[in-house]
Amino acid sequence: MDQESLIKFIKKLPKVELHLHLEGAIRPKTAMAMMRRNRRSFMPESEQDVKTYYRFNNLSEFVLAMRSVTDNITTLEDLRQITNELLANLTEQNVRYVEFDCALQKYINLGFSLKDVVDTIYDTVLAYQGEHDIKVGLVANLLRAHGPGLAIELVEKILAMDHPFVVGVGLSGDETKYPQKLFVKPFKLVNSSRLHSTVHAGEAKGADSVWSALFDLGAERIDHGTRSIEDPRLVDYLVKHRIPLTQCITSNVRLRVVDGRQAHPFGEFYKRGVKVTLNTDDPQVFETSLNNEYIIAAQKFSLDASDLYTIARNGIDASFADDETKSLLTTTLDSQVKTSLEESGSVIFSDAQINDPTVQR
Ligand SMILES: [Zn+2]
Repeated sequence: MDQESLIKFIKKLPKVELHLHLEGAIRPKTAMAMMRRNRRSFMPESEQDVKTYYRFNNLSEFVLAMRSVTDNITTLEDLRQITNELLANLTEQNVRYVEFDCALQKYINLGFSLKDVVDTIYDTVLAYQGEHDIKVGLVANLLRAHGPGLAIELVEKILAMDHPFVVGVGLSGDETKYPQKLFVKPFKLVNSSRLHSTVHAGEAKGADSVWSALFDLGAERIDHGTRSIEDPRLVDYLVKHRIPLTQCITSNVRLRVVDGRQAHPFGEFYKRGVKVTLNTDDPQVFETSLNNEYIIAAQKFSLDASDLYTIARNGIDASFADDETKSLLTTTLDSQVKTSLEESGSVIFSDAQINDPTVQR
């Protein structure tokens, strides 16, 4: 398939996104309006000012830039607006299922109840779903910087609330300053509940951090996991136990986890049979989109339509959706892939292969 047809194929592919922070999906125009309204020290004059603000050399600078923008989310109406914008950006790219996370503690610290925050986002999602075909799950994100005490309290509240919208609990933030071991207790609670667990690891720190996410916290899924490549035993372990990595190529390049796109281990993980998925992390901050991440992966790692199908299918398998939703998403994916291949005149893989996702192509 030529490049133009492959890009068309990607755009039509029904996709899943599993690593996406609500606070990293605020459109520059909205960020500008919120910052000007709150009259904080940085008052952008234009969207370009906001984009310039999102320039950083390392994770610490990134965390600071993010905080000074997200500190401007101060009302439930703000949450409604950014949720709607995030969903609109996803449906534009034919994303049919998303698990996004949200730093719930941030809004509790502003005086809102956990239930009010989750209900606000949930009601916004339900209204949006009235007109669009997208399924959504919320991951309650624990921010490492809030410390283990608040993490336990928040998890206890989440479990007591037992909200149908919340599918899992995640951990993010600076893994160099707040190691996994601090969060053993909250994850013990999560792992003994119906909720799933996912942990950012192997981004600022190496393979040890991923081992710790798996063994100290019992993480089912690893967000990033990029530096797992530094330990061949770990790569074998991920393959053997089918542990998904939610990879974000542009984010890793922008935060200098890797030395450019070509140096990203995504292609190597895929070749070795790791269950990798493609995601955007903070799309507005990193100026990317899910379609863009698929195009980058295809071009940099010489992937064809059948590889991209496998990666999209990995996203469904790695999601925390129930079996019925997974099966529906798979049917939609298979049928669109067939149509796309027929339209492009390509016979890249057979019906039997489409129906057998266990074959890693
Ligand atoms: Zn992330």
